[in-house]
Amino acid sequence: MGCRTRDERSALLRVVALVGNASQPVVAVLVPDERGRLPGRGAWLHPRPDCLDLADQRRAFPRALRLTRAVDLTQVREWIVQH
Ligand SMILES: [Zn+2]
Repeated sequence: MGCRTRDERSALLRVVALVGNASQPVVAVLVPDERGRLPGRGAWLHPRPDCLDLADQRRAFPRALRLTRAVDLTQVREWIVQH
């Protein structure tokens, strides 16, 4: 999604939005789905900071995940930094 180049699924990280986060109703918290098994719509990107930043700048996450709320990428960013 970020850099718009196609790749094998094994080279990409799936990201999903956590649902039912009542403590932060105005923000959709996005989390990495390492095993590709979490339910709901997923967005795929390269697990690299540049790809994440591009996707964020293009507001690709709300579009891909059909979200109307602002997205919180903290957990995805931390995961990428650690891997
Ligand atoms: Zn990419």
